[in-house]
Amino acid sequence: MKKAKDIINTANLTRMVMALAVLLSLVAIFLVATKRTPAQIRNTALNECKSVVMVASGDTLSELLTAQGLTHSDVNAIAAVLKKEAEITTLRADRDKLEFVRNTDDAPVSKIVVIPSPWRQVELTCNDSGAWDCKTVDIERDTRAVYKTGQIQDGDSFYLAGQRAGIPAGILADVYDLLAFEMDFERDVRAGQKFSVLYEENFSDGKKIDNGRVLAVSFDALRGNVKMYRFRKADGSAGYYDENGNGAIKSLKRTPINNAKITSKFSKNRKHPVLGYTRAHKGVDFRASTGTPIPAAGAGRVVARSYNRGHGNFVKIRHNGSFETLYAHMSKFAKGVNVGTNVRQGQTIGYVGSTGYSTGPHLHYEIIKDGVHVNPMTVKLPAISNLGKDDKKKFLEYRELLDDGIKQLEKSPNMYIQL
Ligand SMILES: [Zn+2]
Repeated sequence: MKKAKDIINTANLTRMVMALAVLLSLVAIFLVATKRTPAQIRNTALNECKSVVMVASGDTLSELLTAQGLTHSDVNAIAAVLKKEAEITTLRADRDKLEFVRNTDDAPVSKIVVIPSPWRQVELTCNDSGAWDCKTVDIERDTRAVYKTGQIQDGDSFYLAGQRAGIPAGILADVYDLLAFEMDFERDVRAGQKFSVLYEENFSDGKKIDNGRVLAVSFDALRGNVKMYRFRKADGSAGYYDENGNGAIKSLKRTPINNAKITSKFSKNRKHPVLGYTRAHKGVDFRASTGTPIPAAGAGRVVARSYNRGHGNFVKIRHNGSFETLYAHMSKFAKGVNVGTNVRQGQTIGYVGSTGYSTGPHLHYEIIKDGVHVNPMTVKLPAISNLGKDDKKKFLEYRELLDDGIKQLEKSPNMYIQL
């Protein structure tokens, strides 16, 4: 046994006295004032010599192994076993790390640890017959749900207010993605509105490593409070649902580009900036700089990838049901996106530009329902997945308990939920 689980020391315990633990399961949450003891992985073999190499740009596995004195046949054997057992074929600069272990300073390498992520280690050990055994070890993570609240101020964007509330950029982007299904960030956001996010932070050995997923979001929007909860169904798939258990992820996004400002709204009547005369604006314009990737608003099949004088370079996608979306004025199309290509929600289909009748770089976005142009900001969009009867019952129980936990966190914002 070279790895041993160890009990955390008292210094960490003191730090955790403030921890509020809520054990979440599908049916029960227990509120516990806890002193938790996370696992620590510690090398107990004291005589070993270990050297650590961070992979740099241009490094290859074979060079790094050769530099440690491994023979050509060892190098080949290690590459083969890494590919077969751990699906590792290349090393990534500034991300992957290698550890080389020797029994004594001048002994040959007896063990190699490849570390592709903070949560995974691949251990290669030279056995008695000289072959390399491979074992993947998942690092135990300690996940906590933390709660942040913010408020929109005058002249604010949701992004600014979120940053001020201390919500990390990646989490804020995920929150924006979720809320964008329900909200129009132009019309629904006003000074004074409050919002909150419950999200995961992952720890290893008491050290924060990264952020996890968004667990719950709430936004006090003009048209009513928007709430979403992450929930795992009995079949193991997870999704986001509103407080009544209706699917929160819609088949289409109202704003394909995150955080892009609306510069022209959908209207039956507007003076065209280039043509000069009044005609309907059949979509919404989002300001974005040339080259900004344009994600597909929903999954579907590309039915047009073309050019015309008005739209310039444009792509049209047909989605399930009765919806189509159109994206105009692109500077260029994404590689591999052609008529007939199936695209995922969020997949880049092209890049913002100013081709066609356009006064500057922007995305002109249309939603067409049953052949009629509709306002992307107000059209009712179908949910991708709703809950069945049993899942819905479990969801409602879970939501109630999670809301209780959130209430506790509102009173004590420095506490967290131990997952
Ligand atoms: Zn337009």
